[in-house]
Amino acid sequence: MPELPEVESLTHFLRERAVGRTILGVDVVAFQALKTFDPPVTALGGLTVTGVSRHGKFLDLDCDGVHLVIHLARAGWLRWREDLSGAKPVRPGKGPLAVRVRLAPDDEGLAPGFELTEAGTQKRLAVYVTKNPDDVPGVAALGPDPLDESFTVDALKRIVGGNRTQIKGLLRDQKIIAGIGNAYSDEVLHAAKMSPFKIAATLTDAQIADLHEAIVATLREAVERAHGLAAKDLKAEKKSGLRVHNRTGQPCDVCGDTIREVSFADSSLQYCPTCQTGGKPLADRRLSRLLK
Ligand SMILES: [Zn+2]
Repeated sequence: MPELPEVESLTHFLRERAVGRTILGVDVVAFQALKTFDPPVTALGGLTVTGVSRHGKFLDLDCDGVHLVIHLARAGWLRWREDLSGAKPVRPGKGPLAVRVRLAPDDEGLAPGFELTEAGTQKRLAVYVTKNPDDVPGVAALGPDPLDESFTVDALKRIVGGNRTQIKGLLRDQKIIAGIGNAYSDEVLHAAKMSPFKIAATLTDAQIADLHEAIVATLREAVERAHGLAAKDLKAEKKSGLRVHNRTGQPCDVCGDTIREVSFADSSLQYCPTCQTGGKPLADRRLSRLLK
């Protein structure tokens, strides 16, 4: 799933390639992906891409004041195409292609564009056409962006203060902090040497400062690694930069302990017992509930 660093990189990538270009048309192949009807998606045809920005994990193409807002969800991705002039018209069907955005040809006659694809059977990828990105419910509800300078230690202290949820859940709640998902919350907690099950409100001032440092450093490093990469190379880069996420059974590169996995909410999380939980493996609550 693309999270803040990958979406930030896609934002730069699209800004360099799409800004200033006219949209020829937007083909919606997976009808369920389009979440709005006014303005219609056809309204984008003939408009010029004037800006590309990011809101949490949402991509926002400003096209002369009409915004195409994209949420790639768990299995979605963006694929840049250098020339779509010979591309076949797309029919709704089984393939991964959800949306195709065609741009006007350049001086060399190449008509580039990009495609939004979604793997798997769970279709969550979402696009919105709107005059105001804040009308998108997921955008309107976003918490502060951790790369914004207003995200200070004090801001994090206000967020965790009195919050009785586990820190892992808090970190990936988009309404609390924008842009962090399952992978980077594992990475942040490993960097902060903190148990994912720790209750937010119990953090000391020193732990909040450590967590803040871990959030900002982890995301900034990932953004730097991803910077300048082509969209197609981002997935591999994300995977290679992860220290605990999806690395169950492998040695921790900080202490050498074996990375473990435990179920959490609708998926699972990975962590290093020595670095994060005093050497003690976390109990799998789902499993222990089943055994009772
Ligand atoms: Zn470790």
